[in-house]
Amino acid sequence: MTGPAIEQLRMQLAELWDLRRACAVLQWDQSTMMPPLGASQRAEQIATLERIAHERSSSDRLGELIGAAEGELDGLPSDAMEVRLVAEARRLHEKDRRVPVELAVARSREASRGYAVWVKARAAGDFSAFAGALERNFRLVRDYIACFDDYEDPYDVVLDDFAPGMRTAQVSRLFAELRSALRPLIAELGDRAIDMSPLHVEFPVSGQRRLVDRVLGWMGFDPAAWRLDDTVHPFESSFSVTDVRLTTRYELSHFPTALYGAMHECGHGLYEAGVAPDLQRTPLGTIRSSAVHESQSRLWENMVGRSRAFCGALTPALIEHSQGRLDGLRPDALFRAVNAVRPSTIRIEADETTYGLHIVIRFELERRLLAGDLSVAELPEAWNSLMLEYLGVRVASDAEGVLQDVHWSEGLVGYFPTYAIGNLIAAQLWERAQADIPDLDAQLADHRLGPLREWLREQVHRHGSRYSDPQLLDRVVGGPVEVGPFINHLRRKLGEVYELDLA
Ligand code: ZN
Repeated sequence: MTGPAIEQLRMQLAELWDLRRACAVLQWDQSTMMPPLGASQRAEQIATLERIAHERSSSDRLGELIGAAEGELDGLPSDAMEVRLVAEARRLHEKDRRVPVELAVARSREASRGYAVWVKARAAGDFSAFAGALERNFRLVRDYIACFDDYEDPYDVVLDDFAPGMRTAQVSRLFAELRSALRPLIAELGDRAIDMSPLHVEFPVSGQRRLVDRVLGWMGFDPAAWRLDDTVHPFESSFSVTDVRLTTRYELSHFPTALYGAMHECGHGLYEAGVAPDLQRTPLGTIRSSAVHESQSRLWENMVGRSRAFCGALTPALIEHSQGRLDGLRPDALFRAVNAVRPSTIRIEADETTYGLHIVIRFELERRLLAGDLSVAELPEAWNSLMLEYLGVRVASDAEGVLQDVHWSEGLVGYFPTYAIGNLIAAQLWERAQADIPDLDAQLADHRLGPLREWLREQVHRHGSRYSDPQLLDRVVGGPVEVGPFINHLRRKLGEVYELDLA
């Protein structure tokens, strides 16, 4: 039996949820459907909704209601739903309360503007056209950090928005370990010959669309509750557990862009669709941690999508939909090509092994930008020189360098580490899933993905934001984020790909 203050709080939080979801609809539309000239007014529409939401979430009235609700929790166990709900409301309120509404609105407005500027600058490969928007967004991030004082490193503040509870020092340690494990692997394997030609056939986009539909169908895409649209930079967004939006991007001569991009976003979608429906319109109904979110997308994209077993299921579908371009393709050739270690310039097309270094580079650069050790004008050169140092690749243009990612254009600083941490968590979950589902490989080979999806739903998805990352990981894998399982996974797989003893 919940008390009156908890009930009132629930109603307030439900409206706040609606405002945030309405804002997300506008953002989804901006990235998929909106004609370019809609951009400036859209920025104002989003900013207005953000103002209303921020005023409510930071209000004294909400603070008092949370206080009253806390008084009604006596005697309940610490993981009771009401206790979790009130605690999460408190956590979010305390963060929002520190940020003046004008700053929250300015960040939201510059995020929309920055996105529009980035789309044009990226298409033109013109960094100078983007520099001003980037400068403004980073300045606002610095202003945002200045609202807080309880951190060891300024970067802790932005990291906490995407991986709550995680600290910069911990990420630095994990990344140092990751880097020193990846670099010798890349040095050993990066030059070995693998036939990549199957990935570069001209694969008609109409066929790619049918292929993607089919694979997403295996994963659990429900046309009554989900949509898939085209975008410049793929993303996933959801407005309820029965309204999930995916996007992907098609390249005529590189079908993995669309296929693996869609599997990645569908992994995100399954997470959001799998949250227990009764948590909707509460702060527990959304996903607290982008790191755990990315563990889901990366698990489907890589552990499933690039496994030897699933390549067996993909091959006949590729042959069927490529309209003759991939006749005679063998599963083993696909498995080798999609796992080949090939240092390259574009993060979202990077293989699973080199991917982590793309993230380490962004993590280092954004920390230096925030600290003022690096200016926006110096950024392209710093980017290119780290790409050369860590990955040994030369960046030919800013379009395939510093302009490739959408995140900074929208003031998303502190997000990038969650991709690499997501990979680490994905490998930890994958070990557990393999132990719990003994014939998992046979299921993947037969594109029966339901049992894995249900396992993830039971272990991770249904909880929404009920647990913190450490609590969730403790429940499922029995400990904190670790590098070891990811490196073991890579060594095992690459040993098969290259027919070497790497394990
Ligand atoms: Zn993702």
